[in-house]
Amino acid sequence: MVVHLLGTGAAEGVPALYSGSRVSQYAREHGGKDVRTRSAALIDGALKIDLGPDTLMQSHRDHLDPRDWSGVIFTHGDDDHCSPRELQYGLYPFNEMEYLGFTLYGNDRVCDRIRSTYPDWPIECVQTRSFEAFQHAEFVVTPIEANHNRKEDCQNHIIQRAGKALLYATDTGVWRAPTWNFLKDFRLDALVIECTEGLCATGFDGHLDLFECAEVVARLRAQGSLNPKARVVTTHHSHLGNATHGELTKALAPHGIEPGFDGMVFEL
Ligand SMILES: [Zn+2]
Repeated sequence: MVVHLLGTGAAEGVPALYSGSRVSQYAREHGGKDVRTRSAALIDGALKIDLGPDTLMQSHRDHLDPRDWSGVIFTHGDDDHCSPRELQYGLYPFNEMEYLGFTLYGNDRVCDRIRSTYPDWPIECVQTRSFEAFQHAEFVVTPIEANHNRKEDCQNHIIQRAGKALLYATDTGVWRAPTWNFLKDFRLDALVIECTEGLCATGFDGHLDLFECAEVVARLRAQGSLNPKARVVTTHHSHLGNATHGELTKALAPHGIEPGFDGMVFEL
């Protein structure tokens, strides 16, 4: 399985759109791995996770052809992950297609947002629910309950194909008991996990800071849910976490975790 991180920034990106924060300024000056667009990923070139406002730019940057995508899975309905208006360009009159070339999957809020954006268009969304697995082409996808907000069924996703299992876990605080218990039945070969708040914990419990992220990873290892050789990579970094890519690398290394970056590709 090939994991391609298209975006590894939080909602406002890095450098943040209107900010002069230290991390934003550093990213403006140094570029490279310090520049982060809104979170998204692509699995095996076919299964897209989230479709946010940077989708076009990410496609250009990484030389993607979105006609290769067979499915788009939404983690939740927040704007940095779900930009329904970007879907219109997938069909007539913006191109020659009568229908989108990929299947959309999302929770009730995501499906509602898509439906209300296109009441008269042939665009449909398959509703997903936490802890209910579904098959998409050769992938088995199991949404698990994130702990991001209470207004919708925010989901992290276990993606399995050809004997390998990846957990993509953006936008979640520390999981609640049902998710921890559910994960006991899995042995993950790779984990992509959010580290939004970096070195600056906030009172908000819907995101992880670096120390919480390390605790979650340690607990997954301790309960046997994570293969000891599994690669652990972070995503969804905010400039407010006050850590550059180099600083994240240093702080995460003792925990066996690597900071992700835009354009990162790895195989499991
Ligand atoms: Zn987000």
